[in-house]
Amino acid sequence: LLQLYQPLNWFGTYYRVIQQNFIDMEKMLDLFEEGQAVRDAPDAGTLDVSRGGTIHFDRVCFSYDGQTPVLDQVSFEVAAGKTVALVGPSGGGKSTILRLLFRFYDPTSGGISIDGQDLRSVTQASLRKHIGVVPQDTVLFNDTVMFNIRYGNISAADDEVVEAAKAAQIHDRILSFPEGYNTRVGERGLRLSGGEKQRVAIARTLLKDPAVIVLDEATSALDNQTERLIQDSLRTLCADRTTLVVAHRLSTVVDADEILVVRDGRIVERGTHEELLRTGESALRAQLASAAAAAAVASGGVGAIPP
Ligand code: ATP
Repeated sequence: LLQLYQPLNWFGTYYRVIQQNFIDMEKMLDLFEEGQAVRDAPDAGTLDVSRGGTIHFDRVCFSYDGQTPVLDQVSFEVAAGKTVALVGPSGGGKSTILRLLFRFYDPTSGGISIDGQDLRSVTQASLRKHIGVVPQDTVLFNDTVMFNIRYGNISAADDEVVEAAKAAQIHDRILSFPEGYNTRVGERGLRLSGGEKQRVAIARTLLKDPAVIVLDEATSALDNQTERLIQDSLRTLCADRTTLVVAHRLSTVVDADEILVVRDGRIVERGTHEELLRTGESALRAQLASAAAAAAVASGGVGAIPP
């Protein structure tokens, strides 16, 4: 059993409790549209993802303040329909990579493209139409569950909302609410747990049906059953969609097509889980094996990677 979990221990060393939550980017964009750092080019076209949404980062450098480098020559590709997991120590630059893909900011140098189209050459509206964001901590509107899920596609019919909720493993829970889908949630309504909010976000994103998924996994430890529900719904969401994920869950790391270890703004190692097991920092792994294995066993092997 120890051997089974040992692979995961190595990754565990890189995690610390997130200090800066990745808030609901789409909502924030709505709120701060006026103050956005980037503007559409006058001749910006519409993003076309008919080839499945291959993401390409080409020698991307970035700094928030124009002085301190945050990303340094970051290059990678997420092939259409594949999943790439970002792992690494806090402050290494993982969330920044997600923000650049959503085009909160433009790279200082280098470029980012989807299906060969540089993000700077397409409208932000068309870019965001094709990217679904599942943030760490979803902000719910003070409205009904139905409204909150339908937000992914406001023209969806009620039964489509219910289908999405079923696929996101939240339907049964919603039926147990006092007024089912008409129950008001959010700050002024029924307060949902972190796991429930995340499944609402997944249902919302399923309804949006984007080619690309940007996922910032929650770091909080959840009970085994919730954990499995989330895992199942994430698998449904990410299947056949191009996915870039800041991974905090053991299963995500193991399942990813490629893992990028981001540290000090650079990709310091990359490979599949199997490959990194062979090339990873073995001394460190051995050192932390027993503690992390115990944590993994305690969480049933499916929980959040221990901090
Ligand atoms: P964590 O795992 O803690 O979320 P991370 O790997 O996602 O960390 P980032 O959030 O991308 O790291 O941060 C990379 C660096 O950029 C850090 O030094 C951080 O302090 C800095 N940084 C992040 N956001 C901003 C911002 N809005 N303005 C200025 N600096 C920032």
